Amino acid sequence: TLSDRLSGVFTTLRGKGRLSPADIDATAREIRIALLEADVALPVVRTFIAAVKQRANGAEISKALNPAQQVIKIVNEELVAILGGETRRLRFAKTGPTVIMLAGLQGAGKTTLAGKLALWLKGQGHTPLLVACDLQRPNAVTQLKVVGEQAGATVFAPEPGNGVGDPVAVARAGIDFALEKHHDVVVVDTAGRLGVDAELMAQAAAIRDAVDPDETLFVLDAMIGQDAVATAEAFRDGVGFTGVVLTKLDGDARGGAALSVRELTGQPIMFASTGEKLADFDVFHPDRMASRILGMGDMLTLIEQAEQHLEVEEAEEMAAKLAANEFTLEDFLGQMQMIRKMGPIGGLLGMLPGAGQMKDALAQVDDRDIDRTAAIIQSMTPEERRNPAILNASRRKRIANGSGSTVTQVNALVERFGEARKMMSSMAGRFGFPGSRPSNR
Ligand code: GDP
Ligand code: MG
Repeated sequence: TLSDRLSGVFTTLRGKGRLSPADIDATAREIRIALLEADVALPVVRTFIAAVKQRANGAEISKALNPAQQVIKIVNEELVAILGGETRRLRFAKTGPTVIMLAGLQGAGKTTLAGKLALWLKGQGHTPLLVACDLQRPNAVTQLKVVGEQAGATVFAPEPGNGVGDPVAVARAGIDFALEKHHDVVVVDTAGRLGVDAELMAQAAAIRDAVDPDETLFVLDAMIGQDAVATAEAFRDGVGFTGVVLTKLDGDARGGAALSVRELTGQPIMFASTGEKLADFDVFHPDRMASRILGMGDMLTLIEQAEQHLEVEEAEEMAAKLAANEFTLEDFLGQMQMIRKMGPIGGLLGMLPGAGQMKDALAQVDDRDIDRTAAIIQSMTPEERRNPAILNASRRKRIANGSGSTVTQVNALVERFGEARKMMSSMAGRFGFPGSRPSNR
């Protein structure tokens, strides 16, 4: 695997300055192979690696991660960004039914997708209509009726022997039917060929012109690997599409096609299909796809754990500071900012046993509160920040003036800090962090 290969590339450099260009080159080579093995198209690999190298060159060496892990983290973040940069919801029509047209090669999974979309749309409170415009394959209409029934959705299909052989006419009639029966979404299933051909494209384009879709979804079998790019480009030029649906992700494809298609066509991947059953379907998750492309879900979990571990170490350092009575107003501000960054349920202190109390106290501060606190603390001298006991009335007045706040607000902050310090040092004592003195209560 990629992680095995990479571990051979590095000697450990933990905590020393920056990643060396040689380290980055070595990692880039391995990642390049991994991406090619995952069926990412070569030009996309090149652009991508260049971007990653540039970012890695500027990166500080992390305390928590070894160099290989750090570059992988960057690669993963970049992958997620590219795959998810433009992720967006379906666009619904402002008036009249929303029309979603499906296009793609035969066997890509369009008809199955029609059923999946119908089920999913119904779950969102819509009333989808499926329109059978694949009149090419003898069974196609029946197949759509079957998935429609499974999804509990109406299917509009030409009656056999009715002489209807024109998919464009069916498409038009389908829209009229939807208007009449108040279906708010119309999913138009179309025919595909085994390979791209001009007749297929012309037919799809004619249907598109007839129904003027709000979305045209290009349905792509993730298993077709490197052929994905040529196919996507043919459909982009022949019909045009506004989003991509990847199918057969339950197979063993690495999914690099997703990255190539996203990068080369600029259209977002909107849904993922992961099985033959209608429920095997979800909106697209860039993070899952990124770890699949890299083939290193385990390594990514490890990276996350290493980083969390470092946070715990930092928390312990903080606790030791407290115990030694070195917890200052600056540390206090730092903690507030950290909690703001992590959200109310996060918080460094939340990781320590029994620290829930403290976390709750800090979590109650809102953003404006933090900004004001920052302004007040910044208006203090270093000596005052270390030792708030010296804050007499005239110092408090000066600080209030300097920070654009009132003396009452300064008083409140000093008081809150005092309580926090008391609470934390008693906690540190009780739980015996390194360097902590025994609790005196
Ligand atoms: P169409 O020709 O584009 O309409 O493709 P179909 O919807 O008829 O699907 C072709 C085959 O692929 C069928 O046997 C489907 O059951 C199967 N299929 C479709 N989507 C998936 C998927 O996500 N996973 C798996 N394993 N099979 C799928
Ligand atoms: Mg079909």
